[in-house]
Parts: sequence; C-alpha cells; structure tokens
Amino acid sequence: MKKSFWSPFLSALTPYTAGEQPQDRRYVKLNTNENPYPPSPKVKEALAAFSVDRLRLYPSPDADLLRDAIAEAEGVSRENVFCGNGSDEVLALCVPAFFKGGRGAAFADITYSFYPVFCDFFSVSYTQVPLKEDYTMDLAGLGKADADGVFFTNPNAPTGIGVGLEETEKFVAENPGKLIVADEAYMGFFGQSALPLTKKYPNLLVVKTFSKYYALAGIRCGYAVGNEALIRGLFAAKDCFNSYPVDALCQAVCAAAVGDKAYYAAAAEKVKSERSRLRAELVRLGFFVPESASNFLFAGHEKGGEFIYRGLKERGVLVRFWNTEKLKKFCRITVGAPEENDALLSALREML
Ligand code: PMP
Repeated sequence: MKKSFWSPFLSALTPYTAGEQPQDRRYVKLNTNENPYPPSPKVKEALAAFSVDRLRLYPSPDADLLRDAIAEAEGVSRENVFCGNGSDEVLALCVPAFFKGGRGAAFADITYSFYPVFCDFFSVSYTQVPLKEDYTMDLAGLGKADADGVFFTNPNAPTGIGVGLEETEKFVAENPGKLIVADEAYMGFFGQSALPLTKKYPNLLVVKTFSKYYALAGIRCGYAVGNEALIRGLFAAKDCFNSYPVDALCQAVCAAAVGDKAYYAAAAEKVKSERSRLRAELVRLGFFVPESASNFLFAGHEKGGEFIYRGLKERGVLVRFWNTEKLKKFCRITVGAPEENDALLSALREML
C-alpha cells in the first residue's frame, strides 16, 4: 500500500506560489519586482572583506551586527529592530506572535497573497476586506474588522497604490487596540514611511525588506521596526522556530547596503522616472494603470492579463498575471531598466 506521509493538516493547505524564476532561456524579467540596478558598491567591498573562516562559527542569533546598522540608518535603537530571513519570514512570525489564539488578522482582499497562507499555516482566522471601487484600500473597513491586527501593505501589492503618511497616522491613531503591521516592502519607491511613527504608537510595527529598494533579493533579509515589547515578541516566536535565521554573510552584506543611502536614493530616482515613462506609454497602448507608488505597475487591459502574459512570454518578456475573477484583466509589470522597458513596449506594440 502506498501511503502519503503528508499530515492531513498539510494536505489541506494551499501554499503560496512564488513568481516564476525560469532557467530555460534569458527573459526580460519584469515579473518579481526586483530592482533593475545592482546593489551598492559597498556590498561588493563587504563581500571582498568577508573572511571565509567566519563561516566556521554560528552567526549572532539575534543578528546584532545588522540590527545596529539598521538602527543607525533608521534613527532607532537596536532594541527596536528584528531581522529575519526575508521579510516573508518576519511577516510569517507576526502571525503566531501577535494573532494566534485571539481574533485573528485582517487585510485587504487584493493584497500580498502570502498573508492568508501564513494564517492558514498557523491556523489563524482572517478577514479579507474588499478594496474600494478605485482599487484603494478601505482603511475604515479594515479598522472595523473583528481582528487583533491588520496587515497594511503600503504601497499595496499588486495595485502599487500608496497611502500618504498623514492618512496612515490617522489609521494607526484611530485603532489603538489593533496591531497595525505596515508591510513597507516597496516604500523606498514612495517615501512616505510610517517608521518614525513607531516611536509614538505602540500598536505600529513596520516591516521592510532588502529585496527591492536595496537590490538584494538573492540574499534573503527583511526586518521589523517597532517598540521593544513587539520586537521581544518576534524574538520569542523566532526562538521557537529557528535560532539563527540571518547568517553571518547576510548580516555583513545588508549592513553595508543600509549605510549607503546616497547610492540607493539615486537608483530609486531612476526607477521612479522610468515608472512615469512606462505608465504613460501603457496608457497610450490602451491599458488602465493606477498611479503607482512602487517599482511596478498594475496594468489592466480589455484583452485580459493572461493574453498579455502569454504574448509577452512568447516574445521573451515575463510579467505576472492572475486567474481570479477580480484580477483577470490585470497583469503586474515590474519597472525595469530603460532598455528592458523598451523591450516590453515593443513586444506590446507588436501584440496589440
Ligand atoms: N511583502 C510584499 C508586499 C511583497 O510583495 C514581498 C515580495 N514578494 C514581500 C513582502 C516579501 O519579500 P522578501 O521575503 O523578499 O523580503
């Protein structure tokens, strides 16, 4: 008899589907919101200076070297910083740390699709609050949801729409009994981070990543900033799961990156200027594209997202699409370097 050793629990789960990373040919990769520019030259220096002998030893379990570098760059203390293996891990740990055994979490119906998977994995209930007609987040609705906290993605993904700092502060201030987990994965391309508000509001945790703005998706690191009690909660959750999630090489690389503000600000400006150009061209081609505050565009077309995706893939350009009713007209297009965006536009002109 052939027996599946999967637990009934695992068998009933639907895991998250990561964006394609195909190895069969070279594509113009505009499907996983990576930065088109390389990491800071300081990262290369840190790699060259890193002693291989260091790998013999375990890293600091609390990632203290990196926490200090982040604390300095963000103007907070080490006690306010928690680091994880990608912001995915930080967000996942928020679920058992803050939402399990209580009223669960709330988030938009169209947002980062990993949140429901994290909740299911930790058997935590969740409420999905529909976006408004104009695809913006219904903050009042999220505030009213029967939940202990909210995953508040800002800018939202996949819409790319951002909420300004004033409105964010109002949302946090009006919901003192709810933990607001602000997932700011794309905030570097918007510049309205709620991070400074973590000093004022004990119910705000800001989560960031090295994957997008810092062009380090390959190293896997993310962090949370918040008051000490929240950070201690994340450490307690981590120490029930993985003592050393941030390796020594990762700490050295990310510490070098976070200190190079000028380099990354300049790279983000280039992305933002391409974002405007690409959006204008897509609108000219008949797409509906909300104003984006991130490094990708949410582009709807009457022919549908799948048609656009397939036509582009045949022509060597990768974007992301969804099969769901609400998203079937859309695809999500990462803003690439100018020549990558040109390749996308000429493929679209040929197809449409
Ligand atoms: N939050 C959002 C909104 C994202 O789109 C992503 C990237 N897929 C993440 C978090 C996770 O990023 P990472 O694990 O690479 O830090």
